[in-house]
Amino acid sequence: MNSTDNTQSAPLMIVGEVASSGLARGPALLCHCARTQTAVPLRQVSEAEVHAEVERFDAAVVAAEGKLLEVQESVRRTLGKDEAEIFEAQILLLRDVQLRDAVRALCLENRMNVEAAVEEAIKQLMELFGRLEDPYFRERAADLYDVGRRLLDHLAEDGLPDVPAVHEGCVIVTSEILASVVARLEGQGVRGLIVEKGGLTAHATILARSLGIPTLVQVPEATGKIRAGDLVIVDALAGRAFINPQADILSKYDQLDANLQIHQGVLKGLIGLPTVTRDGVEIRLCANIGQTADALAAANVKADGVGLYRTEFVFLVQDHFPSEDEQYQFYRATAEHLQPAQTVIRVLDVGSDKPLSYFPLPREANPAMGFRGIRLLLAHPTLLHTQLRAILRLSASHPVAILLPMIDGIDDLRAAKAAIEHAKEELAAAGQSFDPLIPVGAMIETPAAAILIEHLADEVDFFSVGSNDLVQFLLAADRIRGEMVSTYDPLHPAVIQVLAKLATVARSKGTPISLCGEIASDPTYTNLLIGLGFRSFSVSPGRLLDIKHAIRSTDLQQAEKLAEQVLLVHSTRDIRAQVQDDWNRRRPVASPEFNSPTSPVGTSLAVRHNVARQRFEAQAGDSASAFLSYRVEGERVILKHTFVPDTLRGQGIAADLVRVALEEARQRRWKIVPRCSYVASFIESHPEFGDLVDRQEGNLD
Ligand code: PEP
Ligand code: MG
Repeated sequence: MNSTDNTQSAPLMIVGEVASSGLARGPALLCHCARTQTAVPLRQVSEAEVHAEVERFDAAVVAAEGKLLEVQESVRRTLGKDEAEIFEAQILLLRDVQLRDAVRALCLENRMNVEAAVEEAIKQLMELFGRLEDPYFRERAADLYDVGRRLLDHLAEDGLPDVPAVHEGCVIVTSEILASVVARLEGQGVRGLIVEKGGLTAHATILARSLGIPTLVQVPEATGKIRAGDLVIVDALAGRAFINPQADILSKYDQLDANLQIHQGVLKGLIGLPTVTRDGVEIRLCANIGQTADALAAANVKADGVGLYRTEFVFLVQDHFPSEDEQYQFYRATAEHLQPAQTVIRVLDVGSDKPLSYFPLPREANPAMGFRGIRLLLAHPTLLHTQLRAILRLSASHPVAILLPMIDGIDDLRAAKAAIEHAKEELAAAGQSFDPLIPVGAMIETPAAAILIEHLADEVDFFSVGSNDLVQFLLAADRIRGEMVSTYDPLHPAVIQVLAKLATVARSKGTPISLCGEIASDPTYTNLLIGLGFRSFSVSPGRLLDIKHAIRSTDLQQAEKLAEQVLLVHSTRDIRAQVQDDWNRRRPVASPEFNSPTSPVGTSLAVRHNVARQRFEAQAGDSASAFLSYRVEGERVILKHTFVPDTLRGQGIAADLVRVALEEARQRRWKIVPRCSYVASFIESHPEFGDLVDRQEGNLD
């Protein structure tokens, strides 16, 4: 892929996970949308450039200081004087002559670019502080780290922009992406997103879904394989992308595009129709929203209301804490779109993967399990109080409800309810109106809340199941993933059993329960979730009609049968096979199948990866099928057996099967063990696949 002539490049397919479904086509825009510690560029600069580099440093110090002062002021207003003090030390460190001298010396003596010099100087000073006896200075090491990040952020602003200068119609290809960056892509005409890392329930992904941008995550080495300007097809239905596809691939996607458009027409026809199963069971279908534009999208598809308003997205795009009045205006503009339907407003759930640049939080090893959600709000009563007042004031004129995130027991629930009562009393004393009976609900997203649901039911008006976090905490598996292959899977039998319990207990207690995690937005799961007992969902507005379509094409008996079967199964893989199979039989549009798209020569048979049966297959007609079977053993994949029936021999099918399997193994970063002799000899004659083989002793038997 080093050629610069796009038309000369061989077509290439890469695979990933579908994070936001759809189909997109456009020229690639490569960027680095998340700045990580490792992203600091190191460059040799010439003597003539050195002074300019030092000037860039001085300018970054001024910019960082200005920003810190602003943040300090907004923290002082919202959190108080003591919290604002935290920034004092950072401001002093920014101005420290020792830091400037160190950066200057590194630039001058080592001919380093200023970013690398800042990183190195901060590292040296942190080591120095860490060695000092005085605990005050040792603690300043953390402030130094923050100062370094801030300087690098400002330096990056004149280098790599965090929100790329996108051109209409492009496909963004990036190693990582932050929620705050996706939030700012709205209305910019981005057609698709390909992310090397990322997770299906990360907030960046959730936003991409609500903006309707077809997105693939977990696409290894995408930024290495795709060059700026390459034509890319993002097939976020099958979980793959094609780079500079050939005419035959393009024409199959033209066809898929046409099919999708027809399907879109069908979906549009559902707007305004009741959300009922074929046998007449009514399902409540609300929308998850983050920004006012989502509310408009929800209203356009006639959602039954807003089941989850993530107010942190309002805060994320600000550079200061919005005041009570500002919040009131935001919430009002949103609720206005949905009138007379209800808007469930969740109080701020920042922290973890939704940090606010202007909200200093303690550095934690496990932020997802730390200071976030209701815990954080209870520790910052002014913040909670301001938000509650804004919501309560709105309740005077609009049907709104309050939802409490990350509840893990009766105590924090009662403390939050006491804060609501306090805000009501204050408003009443000032003669301001509000709905005294405003409904209050709890998110069920910690295992503790799930276990205690029966008792929590006595204290709330409704529940909302946050499966994104619930799955993460039940399975001790990070929802954001990153580079590791994760065990995060909503179809784990433990998750299924907990979901069944939640629906049953809530119903027996007469407490309305809705499911608002991302599984509710994926039609693959709709049948199962109805079968498990859920009758209310809140989904991404862009997926609402897909879910409605899935609901209207199922019936309760079918759904309950699937749930019954799944509840008897104890293996995630087997559950996934059953649910996927159920969906494959019902899915309205499917991606084209290709005969090994990366190898233009081959048979006329398509090779497909049958994940459920763990084999790569090529089928001729109804009966004869050739396959290459495999087995997963820990981190290795054993390629077991290649079989080609007599009727299909002599056409090169075995070679096609092996090639497709090896190409996919590379994409999925499998380490393979070629136990099948045909595969072993294929690799011998195709040394380009040799690096995939796990050559540890004893593996090549
Ligand atoms: C959830 O955890 O499922 C949820 C809806 O909340 P969030 O995704 O905002 O953490
Ligand atoms: Mg959550």
